[in-house]
Amino acid sequence: MKALVFTRPSTLEIQEVDDPTAGDGQLILQVEATGIGGGEVYQLHHPGQRDFPSVMGHGIAGLLDDQRRVTVDPVTSCQTCAACTQGRRQHCSTRRIIGIHSSGGFAQQCVVPAENCHDLPAELSWEQAMFIEPFANAVHAWNVGKATADMRIGIIGAGAIGLGVVAQASAMGTSVIDVAEITPSRCVAATELGATSTLTKLPAEASYDVVFDAVGTPKARAQAVGATANGGTIVLLGLESEDPGFDATEVVRRELCLQASYVYLPDEFAEAVQLAAATSSDWIKNYSLDEVQDIVDDFSIGDYTVVRAALRPQR
Ligand SMILES: [Zn+2]
Repeated sequence: MKALVFTRPSTLEIQEVDDPTAGDGQLILQVEATGIGGGEVYQLHHPGQRDFPSVMGHGIAGLLDDQRRVTVDPVTSCQTCAACTQGRRQHCSTRRIIGIHSSGGFAQQCVVPAENCHDLPAELSWEQAMFIEPFANAVHAWNVGKATADMRIGIIGAGAIGLGVVAQASAMGTSVIDVAEITPSRCVAATELGATSTLTKLPAEASYDVVFDAVGTPKARAQAVGATANGGTIVLLGLESEDPGFDATEVVRRELCLQASYVYLPDEFAEAVQLAAATSSDWIKNYSLDEVQDIVDDFSIGDYTVVRAALRPQR
């Protein structure tokens, strides 16, 4: 099969590799679409602990041998440690993510755990399925941030995860959903999902009960602190920078709650399958293996005109 192999920092190469084989409890997925997000492009240039060569791609949808259309929850854990048995698989010390710790969906086939496959509703396109994994992050962020419909919600960044927070807030019936985003196409998508306003920056007036930072730069985090009401909550989702970027003494004096959010639980992933129905296939741009470098180059220079990109490895 063909795969897009991460061979060294900043380099993806199309290679002919052996077809994968499934072990106990695993299935072979024919990959129809895999999301290409800012996360993949960030890792491409900042590989950290990643081994080479490897195959990225953790937002995956495709066909099983029995022709079931599925999407895959990419998170696995030991299922026996204290965190796992308490329903907190994200805190498992051996948590693994397909596409990060094992080969992912940037290939024509992928090995997936059978129990992590979720059926796609017939009305959901492969394109819409590309919002499920980022939206699962958003459902988890909403839950750990203890956000409710009567709260004033601020969201920084309308990439796929930020859009998911908009979709979740809207599905809950929230009346104030303000989004800080500078890319026009993302603002349009946020508005269609139910954002009540889009701004270049959330006002530093301490007016939001919960602010979700889906960017993760020092500036975005400082913006979140300034925009959150006294006693309110900042949900940290973004991973762009290691630098906190905010005044910790202000966080103390105003009793702000800093809540980090990373991945999701199986039920939250299942909720995201439903939530993705609110998206439009038009927000997705498809790329064959040969075309992927185009979108990697765009994202690498911060051009996010394409709201969500999908690798279509069968094309
Ligand atoms: Zn565990």
